[in-house]
Amino acid sequence: MIQFENVSKVYPDGTEAVKQLNLTVEEGELLTLIGPSGCGKTTTMKMINRLIEPSTGIIRIHNKSINDYNIHELRWNIGYVLQEIALFPHMTIEENIMIVPEMKKWGKQKIRRRVDELMEMVGLDPENFKKRKPQELSGGQQQRVGVLRALAADPDILLMDEPFSALDPITREQLQSDIRTLQKEIKKTIVFVTHDIDEAMAIGDRVCLMKDGEVVQVDRPQQLILKP
Ligand code: ADP
Ligand code: ADP
Repeated sequence: MIQFENVSKVYPDGTEAVKQLNLTVEEGELLTLIGPSGCGKTTTMKMINRLIEPSTGIIRIHNKSINDYNIHELRWNIGYVLQEIALFPHMTIEENIMIVPEMKKWGKQKIRRRVDELMEMVGLDPENFKKRKPQELSGGQQQRVGVLRALAADPDILLMDEPFSALDPITREQLQSDIRTLQKEIKKTIVFVTHDIDEAMAIGDRVCLMKDGEVVQVDRPQQLILKP
């Protein structure tokens, strides 16, 4: 569970990116965060894994302030998927997925099993794809690997910042359905940023609508009232 309590972020130049945010993301919930460019979505996400420190307020994960966690442990338990595919080009798909499990010193056998299991879960045949380099995969396949890498070490929380916006509509729909399947199977708490209302409604258990650094509305997709 992630709780924001009166969280604000003012950047050094005076920009108030997030204002008095109060929000709870429930355990196992997929919350989509939506709003126009510049409304504070990315700032909100980055505060969760302490890439950005809030100016005021407190963020809790499992009822404990994020400042009270060891920062490495905190980040290992939060998978982060970005819009720009950030696979390491000189490493194979398998090596890319193994990064965090290796840092966590999982055994070789366990890691290998995990890589196969993950790849199969999103329909990437391990035998065919494991040894390839990222550039030998399509954009959609690379983005899948990005998601798997974030999931590899079994984090409690998955943060996804417009992960699919650079993709064509068909690949995008496939990945949206992958995410819903993954979420049902693995029961992660997921915060998913998008500026696409259709995407937010399609995959979110709840949708959080932001504007000018503030939360305007948080509700189930079918209850969301969209004001012009
Ligand atoms: P979104 O993800 O919704 O597009 P951001 O969280 O990236 O919004 O940005 C929120 C506001 O904060 C915007 O006005 C943006 O220009 C500003 N901002 C973001 N990062 C910085 C920064 N490092 N310094 C100053 N202003 C920033
Ligand atoms: P998509 O329709 O998903 O965007 P592409 O048209 O890019 O896929 O690629 C189709 C297939 O060709 C995919 O299975 C992909 O793995 C494979 N492929 C794409 N580029 C390469 C490459 N440089 N080397 C080997 N296989 C590739």
